[in-house]
Amino acid sequence: MLFSCLFQSGIKVGSRFVWRTALGLLVFLSPLVSQAEWHQASKDIMGTRITVEIFQPDAIKASDALNAVFAEMHRIDALMSPFKPDSLLSQINRDAYQQAVALTDELYALITQSLQFSALTKGAFDISFASAGFLYDYRNNIKPDAKTLKASLNKINYKNIHLNKEKKSLKFSRPGVKIDLGGIAKGHAVDQSIHILQSLGIKQALVTAGGDSRVLGDRQGDAWKIGIRDPRKRNTVTALIPLADTAISTSGDYERYFEEDGIRYHHILNPKTGDSARELQSVTIIGPDATTTDALSTSVFVLGKQAGLALVNRLPGIDAILIDNKGQLLYSNELESLTEQ
Ligand code: ADP
Ligand code: MG
Repeated sequence: MLFSCLFQSGIKVGSRFVWRTALGLLVFLSPLVSQAEWHQASKDIMGTRITVEIFQPDAIKASDALNAVFAEMHRIDALMSPFKPDSLLSQINRDAYQQAVALTDELYALITQSLQFSALTKGAFDISFASAGFLYDYRNNIKPDAKTLKASLNKINYKNIHLNKEKKSLKFSRPGVKIDLGGIAKGHAVDQSIHILQSLGIKQALVTAGGDSRVLGDRQGDAWKIGIRDPRKRNTVTALIPLADTAISTSGDYERYFEEDGIRYHHILNPKTGDSARELQSVTIIGPDATTTDALSTSVFVLGKQAGLALVNRLPGIDAILIDNKGQLLYSNELESLTEQ
């Protein structure tokens, strides 16, 4: 079953990779498990579709566990949403140039991690991309004119974000800096949800928030299967990946975008230009936790084919599947070697 799915998608997978990742990504095409022990629910939170599936023979405990995950997603949204004026993130964006803003331990840790990804990617991942990001409205086909966009660029630099370790506070060293955690917060929410499920004794689960998923254990002894969408054909799966106990994130140029004069304006921005990154159509990262895979899928999307794959190939335990702007599939070294077997 595992192998046929992978052959279908053109990937011949050797035993080692299948063993390590196989039991997680197969979720997608498995026939829906109808046994009473499996419970599934979906909700729209954080501007995206959240799906949770768990194995729990006790129906009341199962319902409590699903509700605990949705409550966690709402909690994170209320803390980190750039659109909710009461969120701590909005407070940071309003006040952090005038005065240091005290953070929660969680937000302090996530922003610290964001800055580490900025350093790792030489600024391709930068939560201060938001100074340009706020100028776009993809739903209403709005983009900034060249002059306005250019004026926003000097506010984009993660080095303008200063964290105080003792006070757990944040200050901007430049006026007009804004941050947005859209490239990492969903992965964090997925990881938090998995930890909650584990604390409730759940051993087999899938949590998906938009393009970010993490699986716990396997699915009835079979791998979870997760599909990578064809970036240009809705409801078509380009590749299926079988996984267990792992996380996977896909960033694509088809989530939020509009087209003007044949050019696609979408939600992943190159912080150096404030314009959408256009070398790739989608980037899928497989790794140990969803915070990492979320941040890296956005990062590699910005870095492009060569620099993106070079980064992934340097990172132990991280694999990638890229689809370039001609629709061509590209794999990181480990996956590439498996496709050649
Ligand atoms: P989604 O799952 O929302 O499609 P991705 O993981 O692909 O998200 O990340 C896209 C989001 O990341 C954007 O909506 C935006 O909030 C944020 N983002 C865009 N460009 C960057 C960047 N260069 N660095 C960090 N975050 C970014
Ligand atoms: Mg991401």
